Amino acid sequence: MADQSTPAERIDCAVIGAGVVGLAVARALALQGRDVIILESEYAIGMGTSSRNSEVIHAGIYYDTGSLKAKLCVQGKHALYDYCESHGVPFKRCGKLIVATHDGQLEKLKALHQKAQDNDVNDLIWQDQATTLAMEPALNAVASLLSPSTGLIDSHALMLAYQGDAEANGAMIAFNAPVLDGEIKPDGIRLNVGGEAPMALDCQVVINCGGLHAQHVAGSLVGFPAEHVPETHYAKGNYFSLAGKSPFTHLIYPIPEEAGLGVHLTLDLGGQARFGPDVEWVDDIAYEVDPQRGDKFYAAVRSYWPDLEDNALQPGYSGIRPKLKGAGNPPMDFVFNGPAEHGVQGLVNLFGIESPGLTASLAIADEALKCLD
Ligand SMILES: Cc1cc2nc3c(=O)[nH]c(=O)nc-3n(C[C@H](O)[C@H](O)[C@H](O)COP(=O)(O)OP(=O)(O)OC[C@H]3O[C@@H](n4cnc5c(N)ncnc54)[C@H](O)[C@@H]3O)c2cc1C
Repeated sequence: MADQSTPAERIDCAVIGAGVVGLAVARALALQGRDVIILESEYAIGMGTSSRNSEVIHAGIYYDTGSLKAKLCVQGKHALYDYCESHGVPFKRCGKLIVATHDGQLEKLKALHQKAQDNDVNDLIWQDQATTLAMEPALNAVASLLSPSTGLIDSHALMLAYQGDAEANGAMIAFNAPVLDGEIKPDGIRLNVGGEAPMALDCQVVINCGGLHAQHVAGSLVGFPAEHVPETHYAKGNYFSLAGKSPFTHLIYPIPEEAGLGVHLTLDLGGQARFGPDVEWVDDIAYEVDPQRGDKFYAAVRSYWPDLEDNALQPGYSGIRPKLKGAGNPPMDFVFNGPAEHGVQGLVNLFGIESPGLTASLAIADEALKCLD
């Protein structure tokens, strides 16, 4: 904890975390003309989940209709494509195929088509086997859904652009500045910041975008009602990269599974293929990829790409999903925990910002600011 005798500095707004969401929130606050400091425990932006994902701009197909995930994904996708075009952030509208590999999956594929329409994703195209194979001849498929508005983005370039906008509008960013704890006070929120230059900050507004640590941050604020800190569970997603050239030009997704979208094929902007993420429930944050998990990848990938050769997959990277419920539970929605919920003026906690948090980042920022009204 910072030395209690240190006089606190005053700041209008503090954003905790310089991932894609914290940077988008800081940008939105700075564009409103507010004084903003971003507090980041690491030495650079995007050291957490924001650099450990599939870098896919999701269309908004899978999420429960009416959920924040569904709404903010669709809003965020449109906003993100516009932003990329206006700010020179590299992206590619490559499209994706969701594949039924046998007749027994056709009903699930039809249900996804319906769900997409319910979610205002109206551009999906149902493709029979011949059309699917004409598009991607290496596939095993009996039918597919083509999602033309799914794409790829350079997530680091996006974060740099958000940071640039925020700083150009007066925001400051402090690295190596972990928020250790804090206190809810009658006239604001005190944050005690550690690191190389410990300080105490008295803030009118605090937006907690701490990702995997957001619950810990909220729970460390003295006076914050503990019943508003949800459970924390970690679902790791491992990736394996493909040695050699990919035969696919679209992203390829199987029918989704519990807690994830199934081991899918994504491409980077250079066309290199990787498979993942799988779902591994873990207790700690550790990113090594166990090579043994490759066995399950071969089986999963060969269901839609039978010609995948032995020894073609190499352990890649991993990311960790901040889940609000453990294994076996239905997916939870994003949680915007603001004054209307917990009663503390000026404080908004963002919990459970898993996928599609990258796609939805601009819309999440707008939604977070609405919580302050
Ligand atoms: C495997 C995987 C694949 C995904 N694929 C996609 C995808 O293809 N498309 C998509 O739209 N979304 C995807 N997502 C989701 C997306 O990556 C996340 O929703 C998004 O990156 C979350 O950003 P964030 O800023 O909330 O969290 P983070 O990027 O984790 O940032 C949180 C930041 O807070 C900092 N921090 C934490 N505690 C403190 C503290 N006490 N003091 C100061 N700083 C602190 C951390 O250091 C970190 O920098 C995926 C997620 C995973 C795990």
